[in-house]
Amino acid sequence: MEKTVQLYEGKAKKVYATADENLCIVSYKDDATAFNGQKKGTIAGKGVINNKMSNFLMQMLEKEGVPTHFVEELNDRDTVVKKVSIVPLEVIIRNISAGSFAKHYGVEEGIVFDEPTIEFSYKNDDLGDPLLNEYHALALKLATKDEIAEIKRLAFKVNEVLKAYMLTLNVRLVDFKLEFGKTADGQIVLADEISPDTCRLWDKDTNEKLDKDRFRRDMGGVEDAYNEIMRRLMGE
Ligand code: ADP
Ligand code: UDP
Repeated sequence: MEKTVQLYEGKAKKVYATADENLCIVSYKDDATAFNGQKKGTIAGKGVINNKMSNFLMQMLEKEGVPTHFVEELNDRDTVVKKVSIVPLEVIIRNISAGSFAKHYGVEEGIVFDEPTIEFSYKNDDLGDPLLNEYHALALKLATKDEIAEIKRLAFKVNEVLKAYMLTLNVRLVDFKLEFGKTADGQIVLADEISPDTCRLWDKDTNEKLDKDRFRRDMGGVEDAYNEIMRRLMGE
């Protein structure tokens, strides 16, 4: 499978067409951005880690009954995925308070919730990905009622699988962002990526941050954190 034309260049990945109209190739870059693109940098080796980690976790999720866009890893940075039409919602699940939740509601980071929370933002860079609820999503025709119900069911299932798996690596899954897409035959599948760019991951014993917050907050040790997660996940 080979890339043909580039369809899109995003902040962290490029997307290419292939000879098969139902498949595309995503190519992971080392570029890092935060605060809706205002902060820019690179994290050496990030593209390789995010590609491998995302593919590994998506294959695990498939086995647990979550349909994903994953098809085949081509090399360190490139993966064949089902071409989907992305539902323009960022789906955020939280198990522990952090980031914008802590800021928004004026609470400290690290409060463990009895039940996970879910929230949606409208995936629209020009508007700064504003928060919205299901009724807003319906009013804006971003998805149907059935699609939103399926997205919620799958997102909570992803959380259960990943949270339990991360604990075996001595990692707390604090929160994460998912994107879903619709295949040509109308099935909702998990798309985009699952990586330290899109999850908050804390060491279970020390609460050391092993994710992109080290870049967002200029904490240093960014590459080391990505490498540490990769080592725990895949022994690499
Ligand atoms: P952004 O667009 O936020 O800068 P990326 O750099 O990660 O993000 O770009 C990847 C783009 O590809 C995203 O817009 C994402 O929604 C989209 N995408 C992810 N998976 C698929 C897929 N299977 N089919 C089509 N587009 C996808
Ligand atoms: N997230 C993401 N992309 C975004 C916004 C958030 O991957 O555009 C992830 C982020 O890595 C974290 C979770 O979603 O794991 C919750 O992020 P939050 O709402 O706290 O926003 P932030 O503090 O990153 O602004």
